[in-house]
Amino acid sequence: MKLLKKIAEIIFPNQCLSCKILIGQEGLFCSQCWQKLQFITEPKCKICSQPFDYKIDDNLSCPRCLSFKPYFDKTIVALRYNLVIRKIIKNFKYYDNSYLAKKLAPLLFSKIALETNNFDIIAAVPLHKKRLRIRKFNQSILLAKEISNKFKKPLYYNLIFRIKNTANQASLKRKERERNLKNAFLFNDAYIDLIKNKKILLVDDVMTTGATLDNCAKVLKKAGAKEVIVAVVAKRVFGQVNF
Ligand SMILES: [Zn+2]
Ligand SMILES: [Zn+2]
Repeated sequence: MKLLKKIAEIIFPNQCLSCKILIGQEGLFCSQCWQKLQFITEPKCKICSQPFDYKIDDNLSCPRCLSFKPYFDKTIVALRYNLVIRKIIKNFKYYDNSYLAKKLAPLLFSKIALETNNFDIIAAVPLHKKRLRIRKFNQSILLAKEISNKFKKPLYYNLIFRIKNTANQASLKRKERERNLKNAFLFNDAYIDLIKNKKILLVDDVMTTGATLDNCAKVLKKAGAKEVIVAVVAKRVFGQVNF
């Protein structure tokens, strides 16, 4: 067995997920990248998990959530979006590295397990079929599958359809984003009875502005969902420099 492990290490050397240097030991990151990871902890917005500098009140929302009132109820975030995470997510989505779902999902699972297991079913943010054809997989569904296995709760990956192939949200201003996402998602009526009063964990890789997740949550709530908890590997924090 030891010999097999040695051979496997030579054929499949363990690389840092972000900078790709070889790391001898098991683990996800080299020590430099590990040091650069940023976690989001309390105090934070009770809805979108935007971190606050200090604690004012347990039940406080950030100004954005207060004015735009998201349809989702809570956000669980494994890591703050930064250059280390950006590299991994880019590799994951755009270079056909679907194996990264198995590496990233445990990070997200541990954070969700810390905060809640009070949800009934799991959903994922859908891709438009044209984009799916190019990418060949939906990274959110791959993550959601892993989370579903770990919690032993059912995943319904086609609860929502993406009927508009929207431009990349990150490059747009708020008004443009709203226009871009208007009627982009549709609830799958086959599940109309199933969704009534359910608490849903909605999985995605990154929360950038929150607009995509909010639109998905809107569709789920309007179809009868009782609660939508968003779970993302990384969240871009408002006010940080743009990447
Ligand atoms: Zn590294
Ligand atoms: Zn907020």
